[in-house]
Amino acid sequence: MQAYPVVTDAKYKKLGRAERKHFKRCPECGKWFDMRDLDDVFFHCVDGHVDKADIQFREPSGWSDDTTRAAG
Ligand SMILES: [Zn+2]
Repeated sequence: MQAYPVVTDAKYKKLGRAERKHFKRCPECGKWFDMRDLDDVFFHCVDGHVDKADIQFREPSGWSDDTTRAAG
């Protein structure tokens, strides 16, 4: 799943210099990806374009302050 929108060549050219530095073209599939999006980075650079299920971050038990939930 992509958190950031797909960037085409046309869209990339319209980006400002500050925004462009976050994008890299994948040498394998030729698509632009946002290096701020780790899902995309792993998809294009590490996992060899194998889509995988989203992994949700879960707080360790006892980490969060339960007083806000107990108040209701
Ligand atoms: Zn790729």
